[in-house]
Amino acid sequence: MSINTFDQVNHFFDKTADRLQLDQGLRDIMKQPYRELRVQLPIRMDNGDIKVFTGYRVQHNGARGPYKGGVRYHPEADLEEVRALASLMTWKTALVDIPYGGAKGGVQVDPKLLSTDELNRLTRRYTQSIEHVIGPNRDIPAPDLGTHGQTMAWMMDAYGQLRGHTPAIVTGKPIAMGGSLGREAATGRGVTYILQAVTKDLAIDMKKARIVVQGFGNVGSWAARLIYESGGTITAVSGVDGGVFNSNGLDIGQLVEHSENTGRVSDFNGGQPISNQELLELDCDILIPAAIDNVIHKDNAANIKAAIILEGANHPTTPEADEILTARGVSVLPDILVNAGGVIVSYFEWTQNIQEFHWEEKRVNEELKKKILHAYYEVQNRANEHTITLREAAFEIGVQRVAEIVELRGFV
Ligand code: NAD
Repeated sequence: MSINTFDQVNHFFDKTADRLQLDQGLRDIMKQPYRELRVQLPIRMDNGDIKVFTGYRVQHNGARGPYKGGVRYHPEADLEEVRALASLMTWKTALVDIPYGGAKGGVQVDPKLLSTDELNRLTRRYTQSIEHVIGPNRDIPAPDLGTHGQTMAWMMDAYGQLRGHTPAIVTGKPIAMGGSLGREAATGRGVTYILQAVTKDLAIDMKKARIVVQGFGNVGSWAARLIYESGGTITAVSGVDGGVFNSNGLDIGQLVEHSENTGRVSDFNGGQPISNQELLELDCDILIPAAIDNVIHKDNAANIKAAIILEGANHPTTPEADEILTARGVSVLPDILVNAGGVIVSYFEWTQNIQEFHWEEKRVNEELKKKILHAYYEVQNRANEHTITLREAAFEIGVQRVAEIVELRGFV
């Protein structure tokens, strides 16, 4: 990634700290990560060669509880990006008021270029290399971009070989290994709950709105599926190799099947091909970026037609773009609120593991809805009371909660 994402997230943090009039010492504690680990990951490839990958785990702030955050497998994952994502996790877990700190992990790799056996070896090596800083009461990884339930199953197994059977070491595991019902869909489901609430508040008929989704992985495909099932019209979606557009709405059921069979959405014959750039600038009512960071930037923000943006991805909007969108009156629902469904249900999974008890999916979804909508209304109320943007309000709530506990813990 070319833009320094950590500086960008800290731009939002600094503005928040100014508004909250936090003193300098407290800012210094909260701005920089507590611990950063960079590990060398030598793997024997299927052809016998040794290849060396680089992995990271960044623990940003642990004042509110064990560190929590996903592990990303992506060719551009680097320390600076992982740092930025770890800090977003600190503000997110505080905003939705779950007892965690913020962390993130990453391995610089394109997982599509590795075989299943190579990915298994890489994941085990990564887990062994960060094993001394993670634990069910220390730091609990989860899936993110390029990782999924199988990756968590390998992590849990590798950790268990060293420390004994420990399901609560990771969340987002397969159900058979102690995963939670509803976890796989949780981030997309949370996006859908926020979409329903915001359209209701703005008196927009969700069924008439034209909705565009960038990314058709875990977050994007589940969001699209759940919106479609509740009667919404998705006019375009995309993956890394491009997207597909149909002004009358895509058949998301068929598209999911096509994407599961081919790994792509771009060649789906229920619409016409479209590039990712065109997709972001499409004439639509609601845009849901749910792929990667920094896709809405100063060069395209003025061209975005959507009246509402729901940030399913982490940090899809740069600060310059955020200012342009705000000046244009676009409602931007921030990532730390919109995509918090994943970590909320990860929290439910972790509590179920600790209690050795399983919840029914209905309970998971109901508790998720309660938690994410509570945060949504807190953000809306604060934004209205202080005449600030929704992102500013979300950061204020998160940063204030962390600051309070850092102070209560006392530092000498
Ligand atoms: P994923 O790997 O399951 O899917 C990613 C999707 O983005 C794929 O469709 C891929 O083709 C597409 N993509 C990748 N690079 C792209 C590019 N350059 N341009 C356009 N599309 C591209 O990942 P995911 O878990 O769905 O995560 C997506 C985003 O949501 C990330 O920002 C992640 O940090 C965030 N997020 C994920 C979760 C979760 O529970 N998985 C929770 C919160 C936030």
